[in-house]
Amino acid sequence: MTIILGGGMSGLSAAYYAANDAKIASIILLEASNRVGGWIRSKSSPSGAIFEQGPRTVRPTGLAGKNTLNLVEDLQLNDKLIRITSSHPASRNRLIYTDEALHLLPTSLKGIFKTTSLLDRPLINCVWTDLRAPKVFKEDESIYSFIQRRFGQDIADKLISPMICGICAGDARKISVNFLLKSLFEAEQKHGSIIKGILAEQLKKIFSKSKHNAIKKNDNLDSVSLNRTLADRAQKENWALWSLQGGLEQLPQALAENLKKRGVKVQTKKKCEKLTFKSDHVELLVNGGIQECSRVISSLCAKDLAGLVQDQHPTLSAELKAIPTVTVGVVNLEFQGDILPLQAFGFLIPPKENLPLLGVIFDSCVFPQESSTVLTVMMGGAWFEKYFGPNPTKEQLLMTAIDHTKDILRITKEPVAHNVVVLKDCIPQHVVGHTQRVKRIHDYISANRIPLGLCGSSYQGVGLNDVILHISPHQKPFLLF
Ligand SMILES: Cc1cc2nc3c(=O)[nH]c(=O)nc-3n(C[C@H](O)[C@H](O)[C@H](O)COP(=O)(O)OP(=O)(O)OC[C@H]3O[C@@H](n4cnc5c(N)ncnc54)[C@H](O)[C@@H]3O)c2cc1C
Repeated sequence: MTIILGGGMSGLSAAYYAANDAKIASIILLEASNRVGGWIRSKSSPSGAIFEQGPRTVRPTGLAGKNTLNLVEDLQLNDKLIRITSSHPASRNRLIYTDEALHLLPTSLKGIFKTTSLLDRPLINCVWTDLRAPKVFKEDESIYSFIQRRFGQDIADKLISPMICGICAGDARKISVNFLLKSLFEAEQKHGSIIKGILAEQLKKIFSKSKHNAIKKNDNLDSVSLNRTLADRAQKENWALWSLQGGLEQLPQALAENLKKRGVKVQTKKKCEKLTFKSDHVELLVNGGIQECSRVISSLCAKDLAGLVQDQHPTLSAELKAIPTVTVGVVNLEFQGDILPLQAFGFLIPPKENLPLLGVIFDSCVFPQESSTVLTVMMGGAWFEKYFGPNPTKEQLLMTAIDHTKDILRITKEPVAHNVVVLKDCIPQHVVGHTQRVKRIHDYISANRIPLGLCGSSYQGVGLNDVILHISPHQKPFLLF
């Protein structure tokens, strides 16, 4: 019997792929709370608008994007899809708030040759900055330091730092370059500069066309086999983002229903408190009682898993505990009428502005509402304690969100509805040294022959596509199927 810990998107996906595997006879999923979905939670406002407390949009592109769309197709959620194409203002228009103004990022290739209000040089200048910058040998470094070295401090401060706030609510000075820019970092390490690296790769492709075609064929095998109806449509229609009518929570709910129909026992209000690995089985302490199985797949946050293995494997526990997390305050606001200055995805705020907000998403641009504007204000992240202390009240978070949002967007109206949540330790941070740490964790589990598989956002990527792909049959490095 296989027991899966956690009923968020990665635990549910692990159960889904395990249930597809004929070799796995019996699967139980244990979820501590009274619902499945983990951080995915969609609520309705009194007017019927959707307030997403966690994730809201998913990218359809690449292997990971196609893999998730295949899951959506299998779960027969096609009719509920909301599709945002690349030409939609919510995909084209992204803003940065700095120096007391909102600045639109370039929306076309032409835009990178022009000086914008955000930077006092055209973006294309980064090419020369990179070509002139010396190469520095490093195993890993922060994404901030890499971009500062290669493209200049303005890009690190005004573009990359807010982007990291938007992706993982993190501090670019701590997040590893491998988290997002692995290929650019490798280009510099190999060729001395990002631009030279990219050009060298292009030339290599041109000069070894036949070899390249063979490799490309192999590289793309998975990608091609993943192109089923929905993924194909997404590609043809140029989708940039998708979500679900009624909220993204429909996805884990449909997945849990599918699992139950296929005999997987999905049990809520079952908290695993301890794991003990015996010579031929695993003992789990669940709600005070002992349960046994042959192997465990944990989708829990590494910090939570650390506590479960602390007594038997303190070394493993210490490594798991060392993967940090951040807390995010999420405030959904609904205003009457269309009150936005511009249709866009939203705006991000560079940390150097010293504001408690990470950014604001213009939900009603992405998912239009009949007569209201819905915004989601993300706050805190890596700086949560600095701005809010250990235990802020919901009122404090709400007032902070309303005051800053009204000020930045020049809104004079008061919101007609709101929702406030503190998502404690919700996003693992892939800080400098993360790849090496995850390898040590994997090596420890293998060397000690522990029947424990790991999945979830603590290890390989923090987005929904990442956590689903990494336990799929396409990539299952830590699983024991
Ligand atoms: C504010 C926010 C916005 C985001 N926006 C996006 C977005 O727009 N697009 C995107 O792709 N991604 C986004 N993400 C990331 C996405 O939400 C995560 O990748 C995903 O939800 C992680 O799922 P998971 O199953 O790994 O973890 P979780 O959702 O944390 O699930 C873990 C589950 O384990 C349970 N559990 C914990 N301890 C125990 C225990 N001892 N025993 C049993 N069960 C236990 C928990 O209750 C929980 O249900 C966002 C995340 C946040 C926080």
